Order: sequence, then C-alpha cells, then structure tokens
Amino acid sequence: MAPDQGKPGYDDTPFLPDGKYRVHDRSRPQPRIVAPGTASTQDKAGRPPADAVLLFDGTSLDGWASMDGSPAKWKLENGCMEVVPRTGNIKTKAEFGDCQLHIEWAAPIVVKGDSQGRGNSGVFLMGLYEIQVLDCYDNPTYADGTTAAIYGQFPPLVNACRKPGEWQTYDIVWVGPRFDGEKLVRPACVTVFHNGVVVHHCAELIGRTTHRQLAPYVPHPPAGPLVLQDHGDLVRYRNIWFRPLKGYDE
Ligand code: MG
Repeated sequence: MAPDQGKPGYDDTPFLPDGKYRVHDRSRPQPRIVAPGTASTQDKAGRPPADAVLLFDGTSLDGWASMDGSPAKWKLENGCMEVVPRTGNIKTKAEFGDCQLHIEWAAPIVVKGDSQGRGNSGVFLMGLYEIQVLDCYDNPTYADGTTAAIYGQFPPLVNACRKPGEWQTYDIVWVGPRFDGEKLVRPACVTVFHNGVVVHHCAELIGRTTHRQLAPYVPHPPAGPLVLQDHGDLVRYRNIWFRPLKGYDE
C-alpha cells in the first residue's frame, strides 16, 4: 500500500501551478503545529507563540548590546526596559532576516515636547529600516514621521495611537531586500499592524532610513540585528519576540 493511502485527500486532481502537489493532495505535508500565545493587557504582557524566539521577556538585557558591542545601558525595571537618554541605541545579539516580529512599547506618561520631540524612539529592522516610534496622540508632525511610519518614506495608513503611558503593539511581517552582488533584485516589503490596526500593507521600501534625505539600498547580508533607538525620550519596551518567516511546506 502506498504510504499516503488512507490519508485524507486526493491523488487524481489537477496539479497546482508549481507542479509539486495536486489540489487537495493527500501526500502534501501537514502544517507544523504551533501553540498560539495569548494577548497582552495593559497590566501584563501576553505569552508568545510556542515557537517564537524571545528577544526580551522583561527579565534581562542579556540578549542586547550597545552598538559598539558593550553591555546595553538601558534601564530594566518592572518587566520592561526604558531608554536611558544619551546612552545610545541598543541592538539584539541575535541576527535574523524575514520574520514576524512582535514588539510592545509605551510613550512617556509625562508629556513634554512636540512633533518629533515627543516620545521618540524607533524600531530598526535589520538595523537599517525604521518603523517610527513616537507619541502622536494629539501631536501632529510631518506625516512620514508619524507613529508607525516607515520613516521618511510612508506615513501609516491611519493613526492608531493609544494615549501616552499606555502599552501599544507593533506586529510586523518583514521580508528583507534581496541582492545579487551589488544589485538590488527585490526591495524590502513590510506589513505592520499598530494596536491591531493595519498601517502598512506590503509596503515596498525605497531604501534604508535617513533623515531629510533619500538613501538608496546598500547591499547587506540576509540577517541583521533589531535595533531600538535612543532619541532622548523615556520610551519603554516589553515583550519582544520574532518568528522566522518560512515558506509553505517547510
Ligand atoms: Mg525615531
């Protein structure tokens, strides 16, 4: 008896365009089982999916470093970390590429400054491409610098900010750029949910992040660190994890 005989499905249906499996193919591998996590509340971070790689679970900064490789100098307190102004950006020791990334942050409870000066930080994918972190609750700034903007390129589709001090989430699906030697073969593409609201949908990045300029892509390896920005404001982070993004049947 053929090994797949008796499994649910068919072996007399048309082949799908990739020529590998048929429609409802009984021999197609089952999806891996992943126990899903739980949602966060304002009081408590949720539990990540079972196969997530934890980058920050509130207990230690061991997975992080300053940009020069020395220990991260941000403050660890009450299950979250907080920017210590002028200690610099921090990066994960882990390097990764295409992924699902979850990150939670809160703008300072004490509101001060305006525009780009209010609760500014940032999530730099692969250390190069910034999803803006900013307190844009009743705080206008230039559109492509708004909370959850792909900084300097695309404003978010909507402003889904919570009040300063409240925990907010970014859920990001990141597909890094592809290079063939010096040549860009495919730009990076990102989908972002801010507090569960879609704010970017398959946005194709123009290049790496800069300020007041346009910067082209510069070839880089397929994996890089996650970097969080010290912009001088007391932004907090908690519950940061990623899952490598794989293809079907993997
Ligand atoms: Mg920023």
